[in-house]
Amino acid sequence: CGIFAYLNFSVTRERRYILEVLFNGLRRLEYRGYDSAGISIDSSFDSSNADAVVVPPPLVFRQEGNIESLVKSVYQEVAATDLNLEESFSIHAGIAHTRWATHGEPSPRNSHPQTSDASNEFLVVHNGVITNYEVLKQTLIRHGFTFQSETDTEVIPKLAKFVFDNANEEGDKSVTFSQVVLEVMRHLEGAYALIFKSRHYPNELIACKRGSPLVLGVKELTEESSKASFNDPKFLLSNGQPKELFLSSDPSALVEHTKRVLVIEDGEVVHLKDGGASIFKFDNAKGKPNGALTRPAS
Ligand code: GLU
Repeated sequence: CGIFAYLNFSVTRERRYILEVLFNGLRRLEYRGYDSAGISIDSSFDSSNADAVVVPPPLVFRQEGNIESLVKSVYQEVAATDLNLEESFSIHAGIAHTRWATHGEPSPRNSHPQTSDASNEFLVVHNGVITNYEVLKQTLIRHGFTFQSETDTEVIPKLAKFVFDNANEEGDKSVTFSQVVLEVMRHLEGAYALIFKSRHYPNELIACKRGSPLVLGVKELTEESSKASFNDPKFLLSNGQPKELFLSSDPSALVEHTKRVLVIEDGEVVHLKDGGASIFKFDNAKGKPNGALTRPAS
């Protein structure tokens, strides 16, 4: 099983290219074993002006079986709609997953990304097992959520929506994506590497891990920024330079793109935004982040 994400920043990429990067990431993770696969990509919207438009729900494709059957079904579905493979994006956040089922049989419904609701407000790909999912599920059901899968994973996007909706109801319209994810982590027990994508935070991705592997890859696209030192903490934070950012459960999925790979440690949260990566340390004792942390590549 494996997880993979690709975010291009200030570099124009066509939908076809984005899909192929995601599919190739999954093909590189294939050797680890899996029974189903899935991806989420953006629908069309003007990402350079995301504040001014209503962001349409991210698209989700899930399939039981091998990667090539996912690839085939995605291209078939794309052909049946007005989605344009040549449409280009200057920022786009895509996520992908190969599943090795632990809870719920292999099926499209149980494949990842798992979603918060029908309009895909929050999407999650997960490697690992959430051991306290039954308790969380019962709590969420009491709060009106209905579940579509038998997975342990489905509680995670629903918990994110619950946290986000509560913050908004309390008048906190400025709640950030990382604040939502840190609150979700506070409730999760078990092992996980997670990548979150959200309709509310277009052009951003969040990843976090505890017990399951996760790496960040950075590909610089200008000569100037490629000379920047990966060991300089400021490098990871936004420098606004065009780049491509990758997340994966396995560095072997990044070799075709970049050698600049940072191993994410247990309890760390990676927020990809504005062409930078902020890394936070989750402090479970306090139940809140203990401040932004950037650290040199190991
Ligand atoms: N426990 C999750 C599920 O069964 C994730 C399994 C995996 O690591 O692929 O859906």
